[in-house]
Amino acid sequence: MPDRTYLTEWRMFFSPPWEKISMEGGDPVAHMRPTLTDDEMWRAVTERDEDFDGAFLYGVASTKIFCRPSCTGRRPLRRNVRFFADAGEAMDLGFRPCKLCRPDLPAYDPQRELVEQEKGRLNRSLHEEKRVAPAVSRRHLARLFVQYEGCTRARYAARMMAERAAELLANTEKNVLDVAHESGFESPSSFYRHFRERWNATPREFRETQRREKTCSSKERRP
Ligand SMILES: [Zn+2]
Repeated sequence: MPDRTYLTEWRMFFSPPWEKISMEGGDPVAHMRPTLTDDEMWRAVTERDEDFDGAFLYGVASTKIFCRPSCTGRRPLRRNVRFFADAGEAMDLGFRPCKLCRPDLPAYDPQRELVEQEKGRLNRSLHEEKRVAPAVSRRHLARLFVQYEGCTRARYAARMMAERAAELLANTEKNVLDVAHESGFESPSSFYRHFRERWNATPREFRETQRREKTCSSKERRP
């Protein structure tokens, strides 16, 4: 059975290096940083490429100011440019945040906003059981998701659906297929695959473990 999620991931696998990313948790950007070379970062700076906002910051040694890749300020000389992983690193080295692009304020990041909006929308569509098309191009969103969340949008959605499924398994008597359907999976096979990926157990095993834990501990116990 053709699986769109799988195809999307396969495509991402052959995408440019900054789109390759590990699924480990934590700072998603940390995983793509090693794949960015100085030349790639410098290209992003010269082109003010906003796709790289969030991936790294750069400072100018002569002014001791640091910026986002997309900063609209004056372009620096390459020999003066230093690259940083984050604002903390830049400030530790005595650089001050630029007043134009505010690299010290994550809230000023319109792309991050876009990703957050999409996450909210995915979450709502999950609970309302209907699919809504994203507000911006899927290609752009796909790239932003990798940049900010460390995984593709499809994978992010699958993870959310697996979490919704876990909720239903733990708190309702619904059978596994109903749970799969209700949490938004289009086929049992993709349900089993993503569920195992998220919880390292089959839906049935998960439910049994939850039940055992509930009966064993009379007190509140948060996972
Ligand atoms: Zn700037």
